[in-house]
Amino acid sequence: MRPSLIVHGGAWDIPDEAVDACKHGCLEALGEGWKILASGGSALDAVEGAVISLENDPVFDAGFGSHLNAEGKVECDAIVMDGATLRAGAAAGLQRVKNPVQVARAIYEKSAHMMLIGEGAEKFAKEKGIELCKPEELVSEAEWEAYLKCSQDEHAAEHHRGHEQGTVGAVALDQDGRLFAATSTGGTCCKLPGRVGDSPLIGCGCYADSAAGGVSCTGYGEAIMKIVMAKMAVDLLGRPLQNGASSAEFAKQIGKTCMQQLAERGHGTGGLILLDREGNPAFAFNTPRMAYGYVDSSGAFIVGV
Ligand code: ASP
Repeated sequence: MRPSLIVHGGAWDIPDEAVDACKHGCLEALGEGWKILASGGSALDAVEGAVISLENDPVFDAGFGSHLNAEGKVECDAIVMDGATLRAGAAAGLQRVKNPVQVARAIYEKSAHMMLIGEGAEKFAKEKGIELCKPEELVSEAEWEAYLKCSQDEHAAEHHRGHEQGTVGAVALDQDGRLFAATSTGGTCCKLPGRVGDSPLIGCGCYADSAAGGVSCTGYGEAIMKIVMAKMAVDLLGRPLQNGASSAEFAKQIGKTCMQQLAERGHGTGGLILLDREGNPAFAFNTPRMAYGYVDSSGAFIVGV
C-alpha cells in the first residue's frame, strides 16, 4: 500500500506575517511523519512524530505556546485514534506535559481506558515514563503578553495577533494499511479553567475507521461538538462513490459538506483534514485561512495557508 500523510496547524484568521511560519511548521511536521512512513514505519509513529513537531512550534496552539486560560495557565488536550480497532487514547486538561500527544498514545497503548483528565492523566503519564514539566514552561512570551492584554482590557483576537486558534493534527496511512488520526490543542484562548473542546473527544475533533477514512478537526470546539464533525466526515467517506466521481473528488466534496453543516447547524467556523481509506488527502475550512500540508502521489510535500 502507498503510504499517505496529511497535517494541519489550525483554521483561523492567520495574519500575513504568520503565514510563512505556519507553512514552515507544516513542512517540518510532514518531514517528521514522512521519514517514518517512507521507511516502512507505522502510521501511529508517523502521526505522533508529526504532531510532536507541531506541538513544539509556538506558532501553533498546542504544547508550548498554547493559548492561556482565564487564569493565565496552559491546559492541553490530545487524542490518537486507531482506524483498525476504533480504539482511541485521549487526555484533557494537561498542565505539565510538553507533548500531550505522547500522553494520548500512552493511554491508547497502555491503559484499559480511552480518556484520562487532569492530574490523573499526568500521574499516568509519569508512571509510563513521560517527563512532566512545570506549568510555566509551556507559556510562551507572546501568549503571556496576549493574556495580560486580554485581562486588562477584554479578550480580543487582536491581542493574539488574530490568532484565536491553531490546533494541530495529522492523519496517516502506512504501507501495511494501518490508519491513525491525531489531534492536539491548547484549546481556545481565555477559556474557563476546565473547559474541554472538541479536540480530544472521539468523533468530534478526531476519528478514524480503516473501512472509511481518518479525520482531524480544528475550529470552534463548541460548534464542532454539536455536529460531531469528525465522525460525520468518516461516515460520509464510508458511503459508495456517486455519479462516477473519483475517490479524490469524493473526499474533497465531503470536506465541503462538513463545512456547510458546521456553518448551518453548528453556527461556527473551522476546518478539517482527512484521508480516505485509500489514502487520498483532502482538506476544507470556512475560516479565512487554515495551515495544512500533505504528501502528494509523487511524494512531493505540498503546504498551504
Ligand atoms: N478546536 C479547538 C478547541 O475548541 C480549537 C482549535 O481548533 O483551534 O479547543
